[in-house]
Amino acid sequence: MPDQLLIGGSWRNGSTDERISVLDPATGEELTTVASGSPEDATAAVDAAAKAQIGWAQTAPRERGEILRNCWQIMLEHQDELGELITAEHGKPMADAKGEIAYAAEFFRWNSEEAVRLRGTIGNAPGGANKIIVHHPPVGVVVMVTPWNFPAAMITRKVAPALAAGNAVVVKPAKETPLTALRVAELLEEAGVPPGVVNVVPTQNAGPWFEAATEHTATRMVSFTGSTEVGRVLLRRCADRVLKVAMELGGNAPFIVFNDADLDAAVEGAMVAKMRHSAETCTAANRFLVEAGVADDFTQRLGKVMSAVEIGPGGKAGVGCGPMINAAAVESIHGLVNAAVSEGATLVTGGEAMDGPGFFYPPTVLADVTPTAAINQEEIFGPVAPVVPFTDTDDMIRIANNTEMGLAAYVYTADIGRGLAVSERLESGMVGLNRGAMSDPAAPFGGMKQSGLGREGASEGILEFCETQYIATQW
Ligand code: NAD
Repeated sequence: MPDQLLIGGSWRNGSTDERISVLDPATGEELTTVASGSPEDATAAVDAAAKAQIGWAQTAPRERGEILRNCWQIMLEHQDELGELITAEHGKPMADAKGEIAYAAEFFRWNSEEAVRLRGTIGNAPGGANKIIVHHPPVGVVVMVTPWNFPAAMITRKVAPALAAGNAVVVKPAKETPLTALRVAELLEEAGVPPGVVNVVPTQNAGPWFEAATEHTATRMVSFTGSTEVGRVLLRRCADRVLKVAMELGGNAPFIVFNDADLDAAVEGAMVAKMRHSAETCTAANRFLVEAGVADDFTQRLGKVMSAVEIGPGGKAGVGCGPMINAAAVESIHGLVNAAVSEGATLVTGGEAMDGPGFFYPPTVLADVTPTAAINQEEIFGPVAPVVPFTDTDDMIRIANNTEMGLAAYVYTADIGRGLAVSERLESGMVGLNRGAMSDPAAPFGGMKQSGLGREGASEGILEFCETQYIATQW
């Protein structure tokens, strides 16, 4: 199991003796330690990427595509092992962890196909005499900073399109989940990714690491996934060097249920939208806006299925909700629940702090929550479903849009025309219409407003990692 930094194709310890302690969130105990990269290591990684990028950009797109396809295959061959690693360091149920690997690998297959289809255009200038040629060269070295909630997929969703376009990358995984990142990097090497094209440098000290990585003149772009709060800090830093940026930030998804919805399907979709990956997803349903005619029925049914979810270590068969990532996460979730209850919400199920070991929180449903309650304004990032009844569609849309976030939204109705009309009015980068899951490597993933800048996946995904060059000519 790799526990060192991958820089320029060689595995090495950091320039200091510092190590990152990786915990098992199901017990709170240390699993292992890995090397922690210093600012000097970040600089060395950008150096290595800059050298490797030249040859990689010149490699034929077909060859790059074939290497990416090998990456897809090798990840699937190691799906069980990688899934177990995710569950060990993140805690999510094994089925979710293995599902994440299939999703993460798919970005390599999709982008192996995109690598050979990166097209430009040629046109006539309106005056008729000149030609306008437009093409898309790679942007150069990309620094990638990723969160702990998807230890594999948030990395491959960036690395695969970046490599397809001909870039080299330096990845800083979250310090909570560096093991999956390092093992995936080892597999990418085995799949034929040349030395230096992918560098992985976890660190205990993200701030100084990032300063060094972005100070390097070879760095051309920063691709970040994480909280809006940290995203703002990185954007300010990138402004100093006018770096290209892509930002996948926080969410506050409304899950809207109309009176005419198929309630069985809505509850099933709600469980997917809320509880996948132990409820720690950016697209998680954060607020349930339910039309008054079905609000009680929906809430009771949701309460019943939520209370039946088994809580425990993600590796145990039958477990539907693993531990949260750390003690601070549990404290924050419990604080939001307590505040909602003290403001008049009713607990339908859950809501009680659990004894250790491990960082567990019970699946919780709250009825009659006010739209302005803190729990509806903040990203819960835990297994709590606050239900807000509504009577008027315009009011409901105002409530749904009354947040600085705009990542995901869900709409359940039997009337597809209404569903589409409501979807169009939601300030949200992605809408699940009668669906509780929306992630797909072939679709553009990303948010409006303060949920992000740019898109990952689809054909848009590879263009994020490209420049646009225009050549003026005539013949
Ligand atoms: P976070 O913002 O705390 O951390 C994300 C990454 O940023 C980590 O690698 C962390 O080490 C690094 N970081 C923190 N401070 C930094 C600094 N000063 N300089 C450089 N790097 C720094 O987020 P998290 O807690 O790891 O993840 C949860 C958040 O991520 C949630 O808000 C969630 O919605 C969001 N998220 C968004 C998407 C999306 O696609 N939009 C996907 C997954 C997660």
